Amino acid sequence: MEVPVADSANGEQILLVDDNPTNLQVLYKTLDGTGYTLLAAKDGETALSIARKARPSLILLDIMMPGMDGFEVCKRLKADDSTAHIAIIFLSALTDTEAKVHGFSLGAVDYISKPFQADEVLARVRTHIKIHRLERELSRRNDELEDENQKILNSVSEGIFGLDAAGVITSMNAQAEYITGWSAADALGESLFGLSLFGDQDKALAQRYRDGDSIDSVQQRLFSRSGEPLMVAMYCAPRQGSGAVLVLRDITEWLANQRALEMAREELESQRQHLAHMERLSTGGEMAAGIAHEVNQPLTAVSNYARVAQVILDNEQLDREQLTEVLDKLVSQARRASQVIERLRTYIRKPDADGNKPIDLNVTMEGVVVLAEVDARINRVDVSFEPAPDLPAVCADEVQIQQVALNLIRNAMEAMSDAPASLGGVRVKTYQNNDVAGFCVIDRGCGLSEDMEDELFTPFSSTKEGGMGVGLSICQSIVQAHGGDIGYRPNPEGGAIFYCELPIH
Ligand code: ADP
Repeated sequence: MEVPVADSANGEQILLVDDNPTNLQVLYKTLDGTGYTLLAAKDGETALSIARKARPSLILLDIMMPGMDGFEVCKRLKADDSTAHIAIIFLSALTDTEAKVHGFSLGAVDYISKPFQADEVLARVRTHIKIHRLERELSRRNDELEDENQKILNSVSEGIFGLDAAGVITSMNAQAEYITGWSAADALGESLFGLSLFGDQDKALAQRYRDGDSIDSVQQRLFSRSGEPLMVAMYCAPRQGSGAVLVLRDITEWLANQRALEMAREELESQRQHLAHMERLSTGGEMAAGIAHEVNQPLTAVSNYARVAQVILDNEQLDREQLTEVLDKLVSQARRASQVIERLRTYIRKPDADGNKPIDLNVTMEGVVVLAEVDARINRVDVSFEPAPDLPAVCADEVQIQQVALNLIRNAMEAMSDAPASLGGVRVKTYQNNDVAGFCVIDRGCGLSEDMEDELFTPFSSTKEGGMGVGLSICQSIVQAHGGDIGYRPNPEGGAIFYCELPIH
């Protein structure tokens, strides 16, 4: 029997089940007009069928019924997922504790003894309907939040695993499935360290996990389900309560890009070194006339001293003292010639493979100035050097720094080639400025136009006839590769000041 009752405002439905029509009537009257939708059944079978269709919030269920009794109805309702959530209140004349306990053990929420009081029934029904509504609301919010969480987890680019205290996977997002090739359906409930994801590292990682160590690796090799190796960055953070959250990021592509970038950088550096070397060779060529002149002088002196030595030897009376003096001069001139050649050889040699070393800029500049003097004599422009005392070392490739200095000095000498002798020559100075050590090249030459100032370090900008205009741009790339700075400022007395600064070692 089914007794449809008018719709209630809140739409909650209550199913009344009793084999006794009078009882059913009394119950109906008790709850009529309270706002609930009332359904009724007079036996277990009907009650089950109505419950499955209507899914009421609450069932007032008589225990003692012919055929299927209330306990059995309750058992079946609780066994069915679609009806398990319905709150059940038993109604019975049975007053023994055993029956009540049995009812609760089957999942009932309350028990009302017959004959019942209308107020009591109403009060209990209201309470349980409220609880039922709150539970439903809570579960809906829970589902929404879980849904939301899953959406967030699925939209992040990291693979995320939720692990319990033993390392068993309790949750995973879509990206974790994508990275590892394991579907959630297969992986949930498995131990993360048993999936052979980390190859021979599995055992060690499992042990660290059990020991509560943080697992935090920048790079870790991971094997996907199909055995494909990939590189991941991994991070494992303890989860509130127990267990942990393990985050994986696939860095295979990133690493490949890094490697490509590294190779491109190396290629660039080798091209830069090559260009700098070509420029040194070309400077060496430009200086050939000066070098020949420079070497020729001591060689002429050597042959003159050799002839004098011969004359001394031809004398009947051998003057050993005079001979020794002449030979000493001869040796010193020969050394002067070989030093010029040696300096040039050092200058034009290929760059060192071992690169930067701590160098004393005073020593480096002294060598460069000697080399520049070769040009100075031809250009008839003096070059002088003023070393700063106690100059700290810088870390650099000495030949490359010599190249920068020689380029600046030769430019300065060229700028002064028409300057009157009264202005003096080119001055080279070393200095320290806080955490950098450097040198500057000061001239009183023609100086730079504003246009040229802007273009100075741009390749192929030259005001010289036949000038390539690459010298300063190569100097800049050398100095920048050393983490230093190169620049120009006008000389207040007229002319130019170029400076080069390197970080102190
Ligand atoms: P290049 O010497 O082949 O022209 P650089 O790059 O060494 O190439 O120099 C570029 C230009 O900068 C020169 O042509 C010249 O106009 C200008 N310059 C460089 N140093 C000086 C200087 N000390 N005084 C005046 N102009 C200079």
